[in-house]
Amino acid sequence: MTIAAENRAEAASVSERDDDVLLEVEQLSVEYASLGAPTRACADVTFSLRRGEILGVVGESGSGKSTLITALTRLQRPPAVTTAGRIMYHPRDGSEAIDLVTLTPKRLRELRWTRLSIVLQSAMDALNPVMRLGAQFVDVLRTHDRSLSKAAAWDQARHLLSLVGISADRVRSYPHELSGGMRQRATIALALACRPELIVMDEPTTAVDVVMQRQILAQVLRLRREFGFAVVFVTHDLSLLLELADRIAVMYAGRVVELAAASEIYRSPLHPYTKGLRDSFPPLHATATRLEGIPGTPPDLRALPAGCSFAPRCPRAFDRCERELPLPRTRGDREVACHLHDEEVPA
Ligand code: SF4
Repeated sequence: MTIAAENRAEAASVSERDDDVLLEVEQLSVEYASLGAPTRACADVTFSLRRGEILGVVGESGSGKSTLITALTRLQRPPAVTTAGRIMYHPRDGSEAIDLVTLTPKRLRELRWTRLSIVLQSAMDALNPVMRLGAQFVDVLRTHDRSLSKAAAWDQARHLLSLVGISADRVRSYPHELSGGMRQRATIALALACRPELIVMDEPTTAVDVVMQRQILAQVLRLRREFGFAVVFVTHDLSLLLELADRIAVMYAGRVVELAAASEIYRSPLHPYTKGLRDSFPPLHATATRLEGIPGTPPDLRALPAGCSFAPRCPRAFDRCERELPLPRTRGDREVACHLHDEEVPA
């Protein structure tokens, strides 16, 4: 079974089994302060994430996807500042929802690893190069469970590594003694250490070859099935998300311009930018066609056009697009921000 087919079957069972909301991001805006006017890198981003769901976030460089995940995980540093919005986390035990934006640093430390963890693009940024792999697991495990003995923590480290296909005897290796793919899988195992409900993955397969990429994606799906965590998976590669994600949020110039099931994004993208992204990679199961690509480059966030930010590159732009910002509209169970899909505009 392909990763996509396996995921569709899983997605159906996940949503049937449990469709309650884990995270609600509401009107989130992030700005970068500067000497002149601040630059808005994320604007009014709104979406929700169900328990056990994989939400893909896709966009070109500068689309705001990295800014979004540093805001989600509260890893952002000045000059980036969350200027508006809420990130409501709904604990599994049914207790009151928590706004991650306003959480105190102490409460945030308690939630990290245990409820929310992150896998970074570069495993070497996540792993301590002068600590043995196992010691890094032990560190995380015992910080969040003081009652855990050292021996039990080392055993758990071996078990976690074996979950991602790394031999248990590697527990005493240093990160530089592992291949790039093993290091990346080790960071996924580390993210799982305290059984979080949500793992944010920032382009975790960018630095590995395609064979290793497929192995990692298959492992993420298997582990999701086993442990039931949700994933926000950020990448510039839409074809990868079409195989992995349940739903996909497409970002452009700091805004979510389309949000829909992965199958709908593939079959019938509504936003011209989504269509351009989809048509930028070759179909796997159809005859070879000339790839279209998207003309032009992403806009400068410091000088966005008054209307739709995609207008200068959009093959379907019309007068109104240059004057008026398209707002997100609900169309069935998907959302799109494009004047072509405003009710009052004839097709
Ligand atoms: Fe193209 Fe206009 Fe839609 Fe923007 S609003 S994507 S310019 S058609």
